[in-house]
Amino acid sequence: MVWWKCSNCGYLFEADTVPEKCPNCGEACTFYDVSCYTPECGFKGFDPKIAGKRPEESKF
Ligand SMILES: [Zn+2]
Repeated sequence: MVWWKCSNCGYLFEADTVPEKCPNCGEACTFYDVSCYTPECGFKGFDPKIAGKRPEESKF
């Protein structure tokens, strides 16, 4: 499983393959692979350093 981040809304989700549309905003966005590949985050879940801050959190 890979963790993906929607480039449009910043939604983080786990899936085997990239979906056609974002489960959150419903747009056909670009998805970034934000899976953890370093020991710091334990090789599971997403890497907070790659995933960064969710855009919707910085909007308000
Ligand atoms: Zn989205």
